[in-house]
Amino acid sequence: MALANENYLKIPESRFSDEIEKRVNAFKVLHPTTKLIRLGIGDVTRPLPEEAVSAIHKAAEEMLHSETFKGYGPLQGYDFLIDKILKTYRSSGITLDKESIFVNHGAKPDIGNIGHILGRDNIIAIAEPVYPVYENAAIMSGRGGEINDEEKWSNIVYLHCSKENNFVPELPDERVDIIYLCNPNNPTGTVINKTELKKWVDYALENQSIIIYDGAYHAYINEPDIPHSIYEIKGAKKVALEIRSYSKTAGFTGLRCGYTVFPKELMVYTRTGEEIPLLKLWYRRNLNYSNGVSYVVQRAAEALYSRKGRIEIQELIGYYLENAKFIREKLSELGWEVFGGVNSPYVWFKTPRNQPSWKFFHELLYNYNIIGMPGIIFGKSGDGYMRFSGFCSYEDTEEAMKRIKSNY
Ligand SMILES: *Cc1c(COP(=O)(O)O)cnc(C)c1O
Repeated sequence: MALANENYLKIPESRFSDEIEKRVNAFKVLHPTTKLIRLGIGDVTRPLPEEAVSAIHKAAEEMLHSETFKGYGPLQGYDFLIDKILKTYRSSGITLDKESIFVNHGAKPDIGNIGHILGRDNIIAIAEPVYPVYENAAIMSGRGGEINDEEKWSNIVYLHCSKENNFVPELPDERVDIIYLCNPNNPTGTVINKTELKKWVDYALENQSIIIYDGAYHAYINEPDIPHSIYEIKGAKKVALEIRSYSKTAGFTGLRCGYTVFPKELMVYTRTGEEIPLLKLWYRRNLNYSNGVSYVVQRAAEALYSRKGRIEIQELIGYYLENAKFIREKLSELGWEVFGGVNSPYVWFKTPRNQPSWKFFHELLYNYNIIGMPGIIFGKSGDGYMRFSGFCSYEDTEEAMKRIKSNY
């Protein structure tokens, strides 16, 4: 009898967006011609930079000729891309070894797969509200423990974030081994500044913990005291791996490419206390579970570092940030409690009249024909909140704010 991995039965069966679509479809049946504005989305909407697309054309052409055809590539990624990544780190004063970079198919697979190389009994800390993948990956890999009435898992430590702490996670009272930090955070759009992040690095150094640092939105940072990389903090190479992605930075959500940094100093431990560089385990894992990322896609990523590529990326991010700023301003003018939207495409706000997320979702949908992202999707502590994003077109963002303003 083939047994199932029952840990997989413990997490939701469908994407949370399916729940939203179900409700949107119910609305559409009654109002088939109404124009809806999707202001909650977590996906980019602007097309790829031209530089990336012309690199794809060129690389595709190379694949057509035997002299330039590429088969399996280097396991960790092509040098042409890794060199650009290292150079960018160097320009902000961070020196990393070539061996520490692993080009990947975007951040999400690594966020989950990292569990393969970490011991089963680690206690995992997750800020809440946050990107749901961290918690689901912990549960699926059998690290959840038991669920309680509050829908909390016994082996996961939840770092409660609320408006009282400005949605910045605080150090846990108990000892934890693995800490997921998302900075700037999705969904709240809030950031951990250098002083706060140093506390985490120091905690990890003291407790021999590691930090899984999700920097998917690092390119949106524009305030000076917010770290772009965790390696700006002294000692971080010993305790943190950093996951980055071209998805939100350069519109690669459909193309799929990113990279994860495993500094050679980053250690985990055997039960007898022996130090093991985490990089070695990740290398072995990739050796057996991966054959690298497509040559064509890596050429597209490389092109983002050209002069023109950089300008195009800046324009893309500027566009989304402008929308986020606009949303932030307009909602603040209504007197709503608003977070994020400065170093992030996400604006997180308290629902008016303290409504539960889903109730306000319906109000938005039926009264204003706007689709928001209910905060409760990111954990119970997100209930009573809603996420908007700057990923919509400027025209639709403006129209949506007009609709809300005329009614409040
Ligand atoms: C979008 C996003 C990612 C990126 O995922 P990809 O797999 O690279 O597309 C990672 N982390 C967070 C928090 C995100 O919102």
